[in-house]
Amino acid sequence: MTSSVPAPEISYHADFATDGDIELATPANVHFRIASSTLCRSSSFFRAMFANAQPDSSTSERHVVVVDEDEQTVEVLLKIASGLPVQFLQLTEMEDVERLAHAADKYDMPAALNFLQVYMHVPAVRAQPLRRYALAARYGWEDSCAEALVDTLQLDIDFSPGALPPMDMLHLARILRLRQFRIKAFAAVLDDVVLFGFGNSGKCNAQHVLPKPTPWDTLKAFLVLELTRHPCGTTVLSANHAVLEAAREAKCKECENGTLLYHWPRTLDLLQRALQRLPTKLD
Ligand SMILES: [Zn+2]
Repeated sequence: MTSSVPAPEISYHADFATDGDIELATPANVHFRIASSTLCRSSSFFRAMFANAQPDSSTSERHVVVVDEDEQTVEVLLKIASGLPVQFLQLTEMEDVERLAHAADKYDMPAALNFLQVYMHVPAVRAQPLRRYALAARYGWEDSCAEALVDTLQLDIDFSPGALPPMDMLHLARILRLRQFRIKAFAAVLDDVVLFGFGNSGKCNAQHVLPKPTPWDTLKAFLVLELTRHPCGTTVLSANHAVLEAAREAKCKECENGTLLYHWPRTLDLLQRALQRLPTKLD
């Protein structure tokens, strides 16, 4: 950011064309006139800037501050600073919200950051759980952060360097811990000798000991791996996989009547309930 003589082809933003001793100029040379007192009240960045170089309101000379932000970002920031209404649909994409948050943070404008919390709930932002999570984490918007954390379970996250949106280690760890927490909880339920006694006993109904690994052992390992790959759990049982098929058709080789080992509809129901009950919070 520098003070400079304005470039020739200036245009003025319609809502900020007349009043003010300061002009903010975007890279496309769209100028915004605004009172330095308004900027100082809403932004400690500008307060510090003008404390060091107080604009002289007694002269007609314009004091131009060139900013890096685009027209829409500056418009929304200045409208919030001036108490003017902002059209709700003005920010429609995740990028718009991120750009505005970045600018509000850079200029230390808490009212603008507060305003942005509403946008954490618009569909375009909700559709990007990881970026929403990172943004909410950065600005301490706890409710949106917790909600987005649950939504990240639907994602096959690329944890390679540079692939994640910037976030602190604490919040990155929370993503990993929730996944691990769910996997651990699911593994514990699958080993439950009461809930899944029919499988975990290692025997058929006629008390023949089944050879290891039993179809239930193989099924448990498969289900845990599926949850590892899809931590939301909704696809774990929908996979049309040979392991599921083998468990459904499994029989005891020593029983002559060919009875199926597991009551499949009941087993599926129990598994489905267990998946639905997996934790979505860490604390
Ligand atoms: Zn048997």
